[in-house]
Amino acid sequence: MNADVLRVQGLVVHYHTPLGAVQAADNIAFGLRAEERLGLVGESGSGKSTLALAILRMIKPPGRIEGGEVWLDGLNLMTLSEEEMRKVRLARIAMIPQGSMNSLNPVMRIRGQVADALRDHGVRLPKRQVDERIRDLLHSVGLRPEVAGMFPHELSGGMKQRACIAIAISLRPRVILADEPTSALDVVVQKQVMETLARVQRDLEASVILVGHDMGLVAQFVDRVGIMYAGKLVEVSPVRDVFTQPLHPYTRLLIASLPSLQHKGTFQGIPGLPPLLRDLPSGCAFHPRCPHAVDRCRTEVPGFKEAGTASWAACHLL
Ligand code: SF4
Repeated sequence: MNADVLRVQGLVVHYHTPLGAVQAADNIAFGLRAEERLGLVGESGSGKSTLALAILRMIKPPGRIEGGEVWLDGLNLMTLSEEEMRKVRLARIAMIPQGSMNSLNPVMRIRGQVADALRDHGVRLPKRQVDERIRDLLHSVGLRPEVAGMFPHELSGGMKQRACIAIAISLRPRVILADEPTSALDVVVQKQVMETLARVQRDLEASVILVGHDMGLVAQFVDRVGIMYAGKLVEVSPVRDVFTQPLHPYTRLLIASLPSLQHKGTFQGIPGLPPLLRDLPSGCAFHPRCPHAVDRCRTEVPGFKEAGTASWAACHLL
């Protein structure tokens, strides 16, 4: 079994609003193994993007990391200075953002944006070598060398997202965090972008955390899945087990709500709505929607426990 490259322990993030503190990530703990692909799935507002940003220490006010540790290769990221953290980002852990439209600089050619990222992290090379490196990077994400001389508006959505992947891997990070990297792309382009991500992950021997709301899409890519609900991780299991023997009632309902070729007909939705993070139900936050809730669920928060050889879940009934 590979050792953990990244380990998150007791991570807590609050957003401080005029109506009080909102608990966006509550006591999150998990490990990411070398070369592993882990999916983080949840409905909107479940805390999955907050968690990704917190790992990179990119939470902006009114959000604040209230506690916890993030260990990357033996280094606790929470103890680093801002400058040390800036160096770790990209070099050791890199983010592929949700909207490539917003993360690329619209008035700068792709070449300049990759070169800036390299320079920013202390890579000083003669121009010819930088150009070669950029060409290799573009090649590794399936883009033609001419793309280096283009502005973002000259690229399609899929090409822009691949350019973002090229920037993210420019310093060969150990961990890549991809936050809904294919949102706003059509299905064919989604597939191409995911294939590109899979290829660079293999080439770099990196580990990937893929954040998404689409269980079907995430499941095709990952080895293990973490399910988030109301700011908590409620299950982490190998992807096959999530489909064949889901542990948490919420995971079961998520799987049952997926379209399937075998079971045509009306989709089974999840009853009710996700709770407001600033007004969470008592006990298990899923109890108002859970078909198996018992009295204890309304008063007692279930702990996140080992449930089988490779799975963890938070439910009183396990
Ligand atoms: Fe359902 Fe209770 Fe388990 Fe929560 S703890 S998921 S309410 S059975």
